[in-house]
Amino acid sequence: MEQTYIDTIAAILQLQEHNPFAGIDSSEYPAVMAAHREAYPVSIRLNPYKTFQPEQAYERVPWCGYGYYLPERPVFTLDPLFHAGAYYVQEASSMFVAHVYDYIREACTGPVKVLDLCAAPGGKSTLLASLLPADDILVSNEVIQGRAGILVENMVRWGQANTWVLQNDPEMIGKSLENTFDIMLIDAPCTGSGLWRKDQAAIDEWSVQHVKLCAERQKRIIADSYAALKQDGYLVYATCSYSPEEDEAICDWITEHFDVIPVSIPFPPEWNIVRSYSSAHRAEGYHFYPWKLKGEGLFIAVFKKNDGAAVPAGRKPGKKRASRKPFIPATAWEQYIDGAWHYELIREEIYAFPPHHYDFFEQIRDKVYIRKAGLKLGQETGRDVIPSHELALSIHLRKDLPAVALTREEALLFLKKEPVATDRGLKGWHTATYQGLPLGWGKWMPGRMNNYLPKHWRIRMDIG
Ligand code: SAM
Repeated sequence: MEQTYIDTIAAILQLQEHNPFAGIDSSEYPAVMAAHREAYPVSIRLNPYKTFQPEQAYERVPWCGYGYYLPERPVFTLDPLFHAGAYYVQEASSMFVAHVYDYIREACTGPVKVLDLCAAPGGKSTLLASLLPADDILVSNEVIQGRAGILVENMVRWGQANTWVLQNDPEMIGKSLENTFDIMLIDAPCTGSGLWRKDQAAIDEWSVQHVKLCAERQKRIIADSYAALKQDGYLVYATCSYSPEEDEAICDWITEHFDVIPVSIPFPPEWNIVRSYSSAHRAEGYHFYPWKLKGEGLFIAVFKKNDGAAVPAGRKPGKKRASRKPFIPATAWEQYIDGAWHYELIREEIYAFPPHHYDFFEQIRDKVYIRKAGLKLGQETGRDVIPSHELALSIHLRKDLPAVALTREEALLFLKKEPVATDRGLKGWHTATYQGLPLGWGKWMPGRMNNYLPKHWRIRMDIG
């Protein structure tokens, strides 16, 4: 007879070796079983830069000021606000990264550079972006091409020019961006036992062999990328696995292989997060257990880099690029964006960088594969421009530009890349907006409209 998901969990709980639940007392097993029979809570996190009025007062996620639980799961694809980047659908435990970031950011001085090494689809990156002062830079990296594309879309939707996306393997990051980041998050690929109740089929992929393979890969990812962390920088290690081999044992391994100090993060006891200590070095880590709080399984631990070995003696600093002539666009892009910018032409597209971020772009552009940096403004085509979709979704877009307010039905048509509001006598470029938030660009002419939503962004679902 085929084993059900619940039977499989019951069988895994009985494993003598490599039991992912080895870290918890057997008296908790009935609670573990009960939690896996329950539906998982649905939560969203609001974009602080794209405010809208939620229809009702939702229950808050205790450890993240922007996080809320929803009473039920709506069809997010059919909510224009989701496409406008007003919120991100994220399971609640992951939002604890906000609490960790706030704590360690206090200890860093000056503008910081943050690396999210394994970043797709962008849950933790959009969260970090929300907390980042404008002077800081978030570099979100994802090695897998298709997943990096999704990451770009999610970061574009979030709308900040200080969030960049790279697509490189961890070794390339370690070698090319040595001694660069003040904070580095490694949300490592893992067996994912903490997410079983969200994706019940995933339990079929769990095996002792997979745990071992993931643990080896986690060590390799850390070893390959560690050099990118600055001296005195913070390494945040996370998994969504319960297995001690992927959590505490990796913390011991980090402590043995690098000169780091485990960092203790304070939080109120009523959050019911469980502190754990690695067996050899007593490195502190935090477990989120669905049977103790409203969220899925997560493990997180923080270390401070304590050595000065980031730039090995004898290694020459990277060659400095000859400085280029500043690029002066033909278009007065200031009419589209607020603030002071440095402009750059890259493959026919005009980009704007906050001036103090441009040096970093020059420093790394030849070393790593960059998929998003600064703010892509668009193209100049003779007398006109084609503003980019990224510009429409940017939080830097001026609020006084021509905009067309759409109803929900019209907004969904727009998001299907169909023409809308052709009867309003409009002319020229306007953003199509829903509840005050831009969804994209349209160009209106008498009696018609060209919808500039990129083809691959359009929703394909039947909107009923
Ligand atoms: N941080 C993401 C978020 O909050 O949305 C989730 C990251 S997921 C746990 C781990 C990521 O690591 C995946 O996107 C996966 O593609 C990537 N990955 C897989 N193998 C990898 C490897 N060998 N090196 C680096 N990243 C890898």
